[in-house]
Amino acid sequence: MSKTQVVKVKDIEIGGGQFVAIAGPCSIESQSQLDLISECVKNSQAKILRGGIYKMRTSPDAFQGLEHEAFNIVKEIKEKHNMPFVSEVTDPRQIEELYELVDMFQVGSRNMYNYSLLKELANFDKPVLLKRGFSALYDEWIKAASYVTSQGNAQVVLCERGIRTFESATRNTLDLNSVAYIKENTDLPIIVDPSHGTGVRNLVTPMALASAAAGADGIMVEVHNNPEKAQSDGFQALTPEMFDHLMKRINTLTQALRS
Ligand code: PEP
Ligand code: MN
Repeated sequence: MSKTQVVKVKDIEIGGGQFVAIAGPCSIESQSQLDLISECVKNSQAKILRGGIYKMRTSPDAFQGLEHEAFNIVKEIKEKHNMPFVSEVTDPRQIEELYELVDMFQVGSRNMYNYSLLKELANFDKPVLLKRGFSALYDEWIKAASYVTSQGNAQVVLCERGIRTFESATRNTLDLNSVAYIKENTDLPIIVDPSHGTGVRNLVTPMALASAAAGADGIMVEVHNNPEKAQSDGFQALTPEMFDHLMKRINTLTQALRS
């Protein structure tokens, strides 16, 4: 097993031995929504805030994110709660406008093969969270990461988010083999997204725990104060109470794994 390189997102280290939780809503919907969720996830010891500004939706009729309207919301909430922030960049033309706003660029599953986006991100000194394409081989995913790392930006964290299989009871099949494989064969840190990996609220906590047990460097979890009313992915969002419970169990587990 090779040693994991540490990626810094502001003052938070991913891959340095501490299990890091990234949490927040799928999409930013309003100032009050992001404010409330940030406060809750921070109190529960999430270290990095997530929130979609530009969304990659299957249907063009679905909510596409607040886009520019979210910029001021993010600025205020980040400052108020003093949390590093990650959000998806869906197009190379968004990089400059998002640069000051985000502390880590997320590349979504649908864009893992977008080599022009990856090449462009290599020119910036900002960490990249590279989600696995939902039909990507490990080798393709690792090579996608190399588009960023070999061109100058060494700060890449991989994110397993489930793959398409014949199973239809879950949104995706969370492939935790990848955690062990990536640890064995690369020096890249890897986190797991059990929200998209399962697509089922009640399966998120068990699979988050399994991710920690498999050796992941962290998790990314969707949390919403009112999942029934969420503009996207409400069915897989944890309530703040569920997230708090998850974090307590993660804490117990990671301590046990260290001893
Ligand atoms: C997300 O994290 O909000 C997201 C869209 O994830 P993915 O790219 O894995 O589908
Ligand atoms: Mn989502």
